[in-house]
Amino acid sequence: MEHLQCLIIGSGPAGYTAAIYAGRANLSPVLYEGIQPGGQITTTTEIENFPGYPQGVTGFGLMEDLRKQAERFGAEVRSGIVTSVDFSCEKKKVTVDGKTEIEADAVIIATGASAKYLGLPDETKYAGMGVSACATCDGFFYRKKNVAVVGGGDTACEEALYLSGICNKVYMIVRKSFLRASDIMQKRVFETPNVEILFEHETRSLFGENGVEGAVLQDTKNGKEVRIAIDGFFLAIGHTPNTKVFAGVIDLDEKGYIQTKSGTQQTNVEGVFAAGDVADPVYQQAITAAASGCRAAIELEKYLRMK
Ligand code: NDP
Repeated sequence: MEHLQCLIIGSGPAGYTAAIYAGRANLSPVLYEGIQPGGQITTTTEIENFPGYPQGVTGFGLMEDLRKQAERFGAEVRSGIVTSVDFSCEKKKVTVDGKTEIEADAVIIATGASAKYLGLPDETKYAGMGVSACATCDGFFYRKKNVAVVGGGDTACEEALYLSGICNKVYMIVRKSFLRASDIMQKRVFETPNVEILFEHETRSLFGENGVEGAVLQDTKNGKEVRIAIDGFFLAIGHTPNTKVFAGVIDLDEKGYIQTKSGTQQTNVEGVFAAGDVADPVYQQAITAAASGCRAAIELEKYLRMK
């Protein structure tokens, strides 16, 4: 069985920052990329709030830079998904892709979070046929068409603005009477003429012959049914942490986020640390993820040194 000093699971800003710090501490970190190499941020268009990029940077560009920086200090980046873990002994065992077993002295979990769906049967029925949770990935297919974005947070605004540049019209379906997004994003949405916000509306179903042709909504102010003609239905209602594989082993909160000991990145298992969105239900920013990856690597180095 292969033995590692430092194993990092996940390749978003948290995982790569941890790899940079662990690499510079001579720990020869190995990082498994997981389902989405580069993490969720690669599905974002422009990142304007990551320090050091005064002109902004694409999600993909930022992750390329972080990967190169980690590799420069000896981190090894591998493709593969961790499918099970056994943290019961001092050496932490993980299985990759259901077959490769590896043991590590210490582990950093940085598996991030994935987009949430409403839970409607039609989302499954029309998966890949009009339903998407990533405007940057799929927006191109809806050129000059009408689409809807569900949600009222920063992600929903960002998706709506991106789609407004490609599509004929963008509806935002918002369940409350206000947006939750930051002021700057709200302002941009309000100022975009081809975005129409349907406040206090909820989606009941989707319809269409060979793909989405429309959505049935309910106006919750008066209970009336509203039908909109759309070809694309984009979800932007938040995220679920990717912690399934750790359930029962690592302490999770009621929403499934990893719980860390106060003021640290340490989980309930000694030598196992968590960083990034997987352990952060609050901030969920690339920069906070990167910062927690740094903290996790520093704590991991100290743990190995004191062992
Ligand atoms: P948020 O949790 O902030 O917003 C989720 C939105 O989806 C809310 O409007 C919420 O409504 C709505 N929603 C949730 N569940 C449902 C449902 N079942 N049906 C209908 N609507 C639903 O998530 P985001 O992904 O937007 O943002 C997460 C974090 O990332 C935030 O801290 C945000 O600031 C940050 N972010 C920052 C960006 C930036 O700085 N440019 C870009 C993207 C994200 P309700 O308000 O009623 O709960």
